[in-house]
Amino acid sequence: MRRKLAAGNWKMNGTKASLTELSAMATAADGAAEVLICPPATLIALAADTTPDIAIGGQDCHTAASGAHTGDLSAAQLADAGASYVILGHSERRADHGESDAQVRDKTRAAWEAGLTAVVCVGETLEQREHANTLDIIGGQLAGSIPDGATAHRLVVAYEPVWAIGTGKVPTLDQIAEVHGFIRARLERRFGAGVGRSTRILYGGSVKPSNAVEIFAVPNVDGALVGGASLKATDFGPIIEALN
Ligand code: PGA
Repeated sequence: MRRKLAAGNWKMNGTKASLTELSAMATAADGAAEVLICPPATLIALAADTTPDIAIGGQDCHTAASGAHTGDLSAAQLADAGASYVILGHSERRADHGESDAQVRDKTRAAWEAGLTAVVCVGETLEQREHANTLDIIGGQLAGSIPDGATAHRLVVAYEPVWAIGTGKVPTLDQIAEVHGFIRARLERRFGAGVGRSTRILYGGSVKPSNAVEIFAVPNVDGALVGGASLKATDFGPIIEALN
């Protein structure tokens, strides 16, 4: 009942020439799994016209619908450019721009108002895993970053341990299972069994073709949010296939 989702986060990578990679991903993208690419904002409109089999998303949005906010983008503008998703609260936004849970919650609300599905990211740092209770950290981020009124259609949660992003380090499958099971239980408790059971939970952090199959077999892993390995069709294609 939860459609698998292969999501690519291009971060600050890619130019118009990169759209050939999107076209090359189209074959893998017409299978059972949903495929989403979040390119830099400069490419959203072009990417949305590249192939109907790949959904397009932004990597951030402002809390306001419009106004005097130089350099920012609203959720409505992302939607106007052809996006149907937006990643919010990625750890690089939280670290580089000091984004708090409350800001992520307000951005998520703005995304919903514009009709976008929010991919809300949570995850502990290495220091937090070693010196605190990881589940407490994740529980706090979930409570603070997701507004009331979530539906399975409008929300995707991505568990991304900060120490696994771009490092080649991956948690054990048991560690992934523990956090994903915890997130599922929290979603069920807060939003009810129906929403909790049908909301997709992605794993993110150093997913690549060689580890995708075993990660996707972990209970409550409904797909992946992939950084580096989503830039090239030769890497992302096999990750999509592992979900098809
Ligand atoms: P990575 O990034 O796949 O390059 O580790 C994941 C992410 O930050 O979403």
